[in-house]
Amino acid sequence: MAQICLVEDEQKVAAFIYKGLEEQGYKVKTAKTGEEARKLISADNFDLFVVDIMLPDINGIELCRQLRVTDTQTPILILSALDQVQNKVDGLKAGADDYLVKPFHFSELLARIEALLRRQKITPKEDHIIVFDDLKLDTWSNLAERGGQQITLTAKEYTLLELFMRNPNKVLSREYIAEQVWGIDFDTGTNFIDVYVNYLRKKIEKGFQKKLIHTVIGMGYTMRNDR
Ligand code: CA
Repeated sequence: MAQICLVEDEQKVAAFIYKGLEEQGYKVKTAKTGEEARKLISADNFDLFVVDIMLPDINGIELCRQLRVTDTQTPILILSALDQVQNKVDGLKAGADDYLVKPFHFSELLARIEALLRRQKITPKEDHIIVFDDLKLDTWSNLAERGGQQITLTAKEYTLLELFMRNPNKVLSREYIAEQVWGIDFDTGTNFIDVYVNYLRKKIEKGFQKKLIHTVIGMGYTMRNDR
C-alpha cells in the first residue's frame, strides 16, 4: 500500500487525515514543520505528499519548490485554507499536482489522493527513453536533450513535454493538458496552459530551425515535425 507523507501543523486536521487514511489502508507519516518534513523525506520513500501551506517555519509552496528540485515525480497535493485562484496557481506552479481548499470532505481528499496515485502508476517506466525527431527524453533521469544539447526543465515542463512526446501528431486540447499535467479542470478563461507551453517551447526550440510544438487554432497544441 502507498506510503503518504502528511505535512500539517494543525494537530486536529492532521489527526483527522491520519486516521482516515490509515483506515483506508495507507501508511501515513506526519510532519508538523518543513524541517520535520525534510527529515522524513530524506529518511524514507513516499508515494505521495499532502502539504499544508501555512506551516510554522516555511510556506508549503516553498516546500513544494524545494521538493521538486530533487523529485519531479512524486505527486504533491496542497491542502490550504487559502482559496484564492492566485494561491492555487502559485501552488501548481511550484510543482504541486493538485490543490484542495479547507475545509474539505474527507471523501474528496481520498478521491484526489487515489486519482494522483493512479496516474503515477500508469506512467510506464519500461521504455524510459522517448525520442521524437532530434529530441530525446529520459523518463528515469528526467533529462531532455535536443541535438545532443541538454535542456533543463522544471517539473511541470518535464511532465508537459512527456505528455507531448507520448502523443506525437495528436492534437491536445488545453483542457486535456490541464487534466493530464495538473490533474485539474482548468477554468478555460485563464491562459495558464499557453504560458506553460510557451515556456517549454522556448526551451526546446530556441536555437533550432524546426518547430516541434505547434498551435492548432481553436483546438490546442500538437507535437509535429513536418516543418
Ligand atoms: Ca497550517
